[in-house]
Amino acid sequence: MKRVISVIACVAAAVLALWCAPVAADRRAASIVVPILMYHHVGNWGPSRADWAPWVVLPEDFRAQMDWLVQHGYRTISFRELIECSSRGVAPVGKPVIISFDDGWAAQCAVARDELMPRGLRATFFVYTAAVGPVPNGSGYVSWPELRELEAAGHEVQSHTVSHARLTEVLPEQLQREMQESRRKIEAEMHHQVQALAYPFGLHDGTVMQAARVAGYQCAVRADADLSIGEPLLYRMPRVRMGYGDGLQRFAECMEASERSR
Ligand SMILES: [Zn+2]
Repeated sequence: MKRVISVIACVAAAVLALWCAPVAADRRAASIVVPILMYHHVGNWGPSRADWAPWVVLPEDFRAQMDWLVQHGYRTISFRELIECSSRGVAPVGKPVIISFDDGWAAQCAVARDELMPRGLRATFFVYTAAVGPVPNGSGYVSWPELRELEAAGHEVQSHTVSHARLTEVLPEQLQREMQESRRKIEAEMHHQVQALAYPFGLHDGTVMQAARVAGYQCAVRADADLSIGEPLLYRMPRVRMGYGDGLQRFAECMEASERSR
C-alpha cells in the first residue's frame, strides 16, 4: 500500500511539474540584460504623417545616435550571442548593445549598408513573414534574398510573427500559427534557428508569453522600456524606442537608464 501511495505521489508530482514548467520558464528573469534599441524607419517624413512620428527617426539623429554608440565603446551583439552567453551564464564581452529594426521594410537594407556597416555596427531585423517577398518586388518590404545578404554581412533575422497580428486579441489557433509558421518559414529561408520574437505593437500577456515559449522561442521583446512593468523577463525584454525628434540627449538618457537597470 505504501508503495502504491508513493507511486501516486510521484506521478502527481511529475504532472504538477509538467503543468508548472512553462509558467516557471516564462517567469524566469533574463539572466543577462543588455540595452536593446528599437527602430522602424529612418527618414525625414515623420511630420507629414503624425501617426508615424513615433516610428520614424531623422537621418541626422540616427547618425548621431550610432556615432554616440561607437564613441562610448559599445559593441553590437545579436540575440544569438545574447542567448548563448545567457545559457553559459557569462556576460557578453565589452559594452554590448542590440540594435533592432522591426517590420522588414526594404529601406532598412540601405540603412544597414550606409550607416551601420561603415561604423562596424550590426543589427537584428524582426520580419513578419507574410510581407517578405521571394524576390525584391517594389512592395516596400524586404525580400528573402535581401535578408540573406544582410545575414552574410553579419546581421541577423528573427521573427515578428506571420501577419503582424495583435497577439493578445487573436484566437488560440491563430496565436499558434503566428508563432510557429513564421519561425518555420524563417528557418527554412535563412537556414538557422530562430530564437527571438518581437511582439507586434509590443502586445503581450501571460498567454502570449507562454505561446512564444511553447513555439520554441528562447526570448521575446516588447516595444517599450517602461521600467514600471517589472524586471526584464526572458519573454518580455524591454526595448528603447527612438522616434521623430528624439535627439541625442534623449538617446543618451535612455541608454543610461537602460544601463542602470542591468
Ligand atoms: Zn511591427
